[in-house]
Amino acid sequence: MPTDKPHSNQSIDALLTFDREHIWHPYTSATNPLPTQLVTAANGVHLELANGDKIIDGMASWWSAIHGYNHPALNQAAKAQIDTMSHVMFGGLTHSPAIELCQTLLDITPANLEHVFLADSGSISVEVAIKMAVQFWQAKGDNSKSKMLSLRGGYHGDTFAAMSVCDPDTGMHHLFNKAVIKQAFTQRPNCRFDQDFNPECLQDLEATIKENHAELAALILEPIVQGAGGMWFYHPEFLKKARELCDQYQLLLISDEIATGFGRTGKLFACEWANIQPDIMCIGKALTGGYMSLAATLASREVAHGISQNGGVFMHGPTFMGNPLACAVAVQSLRTLLESDWQKRIHTIERQLKQHLNIARTLESVADVRVLGAIGVLEMNELVNVAHAQAFFVKQGVWVRPFGKLIYIMPPYIINDVELEAVCRAMTNYAELLSTPES
Ligand SMILES: *Cc1c(COP(=O)(O)O)cnc(C)c1O
Repeated sequence: MPTDKPHSNQSIDALLTFDREHIWHPYTSATNPLPTQLVTAANGVHLELANGDKIIDGMASWWSAIHGYNHPALNQAAKAQIDTMSHVMFGGLTHSPAIELCQTLLDITPANLEHVFLADSGSISVEVAIKMAVQFWQAKGDNSKSKMLSLRGGYHGDTFAAMSVCDPDTGMHHLFNKAVIKQAFTQRPNCRFDQDFNPECLQDLEATIKENHAELAALILEPIVQGAGGMWFYHPEFLKKARELCDQYQLLLISDEIATGFGRTGKLFACEWANIQPDIMCIGKALTGGYMSLAATLASREVAHGISQNGGVFMHGPTFMGNPLACAVAVQSLRTLLESDWQKRIHTIERQLKQHLNIARTLESVADVRVLGAIGVLEMNELVNVAHAQAFFVKQGVWVRPFGKLIYIMPPYIINDVELEAVCRAMTNYAELLSTPES
């Protein structure tokens, strides 16, 4: 273990005071922020807090740290790359970390995907996907097909085009009003993953596509698991039929696998639940095992060649495109994942999540319990007070960060039985606390 940990000679209080007064955290007020915990180190499934407490991470840093923290092989990949070349521009230059990463990605994603655009974050990969869809139809001489169709309850990121395809009610549309492009929406697929399929859940999708296909460039969706829009798991048959409708009415299908990719749902990619191939696919989050920001947009040959016909070029090119450091860590993260028995691991986690969370079903505060792969969700009847819940969980020795009515986890895959049970127990304890009348 290295002992030369970066540290600060300022007091914990001084650091937290500056943080509170000057630094924005995700979705917070500058003047009345939610409390933050000072983390000094992270190892395996543990976050180490400034007071010396080690808490078990149930969030994998928002779906990303699938192998846990401070992983020797990933550390080694980063160190080797940083001593060789941290970054070079991708315009006119290329390098083996990017090439090897793209080779692996094309090996493991649906077979029709043949071209990779390396993006700097998930939201940007969604922007890129939307631009690809629009450019594709333009190159075909169809300028009217430029809108996106999206599912209610979806989440695709925080930049403008990504925001425009997030759920119009729970997303940020009302805050930005006219600045957000108006897209088309269809109902949240209300056919649950774990129940018999009812074809009625397709009616709105079919009607919307039928009516609007002339102006729709693509259908964008999160396959099977809608994440930050509500942690909702829907039936693979819906996805299968969505693919068929896209073919029938000439819409590209954009599959946003940023949260679901790399084994999280029990398949390497959630599209596999329905055995479908998207035309465009976004990946991110766990791509570098949670080490740094990197994402990718993959396109079929048809899309890529369509955009490029008649001398067309695809118009995007971020400064840090294909960052070698991020690519080298991603190559190692994929190697570590693919060499592991991840399927068995996710299956075990899924069984344990069901075992430990299902007992919460009878609690008064709990509306629903959902488990799929390494994702466990308690949907509460009321909005959860995040500051209150946070303090409770840290005291119980775990890191769980609720949003809305949802208390949910997607732990690192390396979490062991005892640790997972501790996280689940903290969740059900909190649900129990909220079920008692005096709280
Ligand atoms: C997190 C997420 C994004 C946005 O990714 P960022 O890296 O946060 O920009 C987009 N789509 C889905 C499904 C996500 O879960």
